[in-house]
Amino acid sequence: MPELPEVESVARALRSSLTGRRATGLVVRWAGILEPTPRAVRRASVGRVLSGVHRRGKYLVLTFTGDDGAVGHVMLHLRMSGQLLFEPDDAPDKHTHLIWDFEGRPLHYRDVRKFGRWTVVDDAVNPTAMAHVGPDMLEVRFAEWNKRVAHRKAPWKSVLLDQGVASGIGNIYADEALFRAGVHPLKTPEGTSPEKRRAVWNAAKGVLRLAVKHGGTTFLDFKDFHGKPGNFRRKLRVFQRDGEACGRCGVVIQRVVVGGRSTHYCPACQP
Ligand SMILES: [Zn+2]
Repeated sequence: MPELPEVESVARALRSSLTGRRATGLVVRWAGILEPTPRAVRRASVGRVLSGVHRRGKYLVLTFTGDDGAVGHVMLHLRMSGQLLFEPDDAPDKHTHLIWDFEGRPLHYRDVRKFGRWTVVDDAVNPTAMAHVGPDMLEVRFAEWNKRVAHRKAPWKSVLLDQGVASGIGNIYADEALFRAGVHPLKTPEGTSPEKRRAVWNAAKGVLRLAVKHGGTTFLDFKDFHGKPGNFRRKLRVFQRDGEACGRCGVVIQRVVVGGRSTHYCPACQP
């Protein structure tokens, strides 16, 4: 599932290949992906130039500007399996739901599970539709983040996944951040010292930054965005490594389910 680093890769690919180009066509092959209606998405975008791509957490907002100065904003959330294919070699298949045309340059939106959405919104940076979404995990300062987590009685794993606290972290990077901070996923922020809380904040940012640098984590069921796969997977220390020896201490990495999510940790490094 795409998390902040993967979505950042998409944002960068959109900026480098399509910003400044006009959306000249949109073929809708499955309308359920567009909100509130395909007509609204088309009116916000087609005939206008892609003038900006803004990311917060796992959300992207694409801004389209018309020759008359009118702007439209379309928010994109890839959810479980959404993917953008830039200048795809393959013909559209049954999972290709949108075919954009940017002055002769095609952009395909594929989504096997169909949970992704393209939604017309009222602003690029603070759309009403994102009122429930917390600040971006890469941007948020410790003081603000600490205020949001300090009194939480839920397990760390769940708090990191809560997009209302801070946005961008999903299952992979939550596990990796807690390992790097040396914090057990079932501990609660309230029962954690301020120093350790700062360590979690630091580790979350660090692991996200590193993953952005490596183009994100690409899984077998997840095609790359821009011709080359993200190569962060081999840097993962605990995620899906249960049964293997911890690279730091040699103790066997464990798996536990927290809030319905598969969670991986080292019992020695994360007491
Ligand atoms: Zn260990």
